[in-house]
Amino acid sequence: MNEIFLLKLGEIVLKGANRRQFENRLCSNVKRRMRPFGEFDVTILQSTVYVEPTDDACDVEGAWDACHYIFGVVSLCRCRPCEKTLDAIYDAVMEYLADDLAAAASFKVESRRSDKRFPLNSIEISQQIGGRLAEQFPHVTVDVHHPAYTVYVEVRDHAAYVHGPAQPGAGGLPTGVGGRAAVLLSGGIDSPVAGYMIAKRGVELECIHFFSYPYTSELAKDKVLELARLMTRYCGRMSVNIVGFTEIQEAIRDHCPEEYFTLIMRRFMMRISQQIAKEHGCGCLVTGENLGQVASQTMEAMAVTHAVVDLPVFHPLIGMDKEEIVTIARRIGTMETSILPYEDCCTVFTPKHPRTKPRLGPVEEVERRLDVEGLVARALENTEMVKVRYHG
Ligand code: ATP
Ligand code: MG
Repeated sequence: MNEIFLLKLGEIVLKGANRRQFENRLCSNVKRRMRPFGEFDVTILQSTVYVEPTDDACDVEGAWDACHYIFGVVSLCRCRPCEKTLDAIYDAVMEYLADDLAAAASFKVESRRSDKRFPLNSIEISQQIGGRLAEQFPHVTVDVHHPAYTVYVEVRDHAAYVHGPAQPGAGGLPTGVGGRAAVLLSGGIDSPVAGYMIAKRGVELECIHFFSYPYTSELAKDKVLELARLMTRYCGRMSVNIVGFTEIQEAIRDHCPEEYFTLIMRRFMMRISQQIAKEHGCGCLVTGENLGQVASQTMEAMAVTHAVVDLPVFHPLIGMDKEEIVTIARRIGTMETSILPYEDCCTVFTPKHPRTKPRLGPVEEVERRLDVEGLVARALENTEMVKVRYHG
């Protein structure tokens, strides 16, 4: 084929002994992500993943777009492979990049030579190719310090490659190298961003959503499934565990003082989530909590909420401002769905005067009025698992 994608690895290059495992994982993730777009050859060499369409039936544009959402890739470019001779490299630049070059005010050539058998070093390659291009495009000045356009030449093991400027990749670590996490996914702005941030660290996600039909509608459930689907663009396929939460919310409403509604509800969420997490091999729980955002997100309230679980609870948004969270939500494409106006179960029985500085003792005291074990067990039985994926 005459076009290939090069995906450059990010910090995984630094990971010493684990590097091979990381690279293999990234390679198999890329293979899986390319599958909906046809037959692609995916190989990894010298900290670069090579993605090559094998026939004309491949959806190259779709595949190229998908490559921007693969964690572990720091930058990516489309390039033209060619023989490892100066003439072939020059011809490839002329065929592949001439339009971009002609439109630029200034340019330079930047070369890398990882095949040290190639007779010219990288500076010489740049000089030779740059010289010929300068003759061909006399109106485009050579500027080695601040060029408007850079032609890249890479002489690698199997071939040489020419390309224009690279684009930024999704960054982070390859999905799966960091274990699994269970994300408590509401329909709000915060939790999809929290899930994305943990996923970016190489973690596979399992989602959990608490659903209080008929207090919250089927539309609210569909909204959460859509948010999860949007997240899979980055995280790969996931399951969403939809937990029937109505009985628990009604029990809390009927037996507990209103000021404790949210806290006790959140303690039930944590207990149930922990059981689901453990069943699915998850090593932590993730929430979208953000210090001081609402009454249940003071440090005292969070201490009371998290006291019922022994798995670590991560809340990657804890110190962020709302604007920072919204910026990420927009960038990852979840914002529009998050702001659809369906009720979350948290908003259904919201107390007028919630406790912001609760103490554990009184909360436990109140909770004794409830059959905690039975309620948790029935909610777990009443859990439906839905698999989501980005394509199809
Ligand atoms: P979000 O925007 O994520 O809904 P929020 O600022 O509205 O967060 P809360 O409603 O207090 O905050 O919820 C805090 C966290 O608890 C959420 O980020 C989410 O992780 C979890 N959570 C809340 N409601 C649900 C739910 N119905 N199902 C699953 N998790 C939930
Ligand atoms: Mg919410």
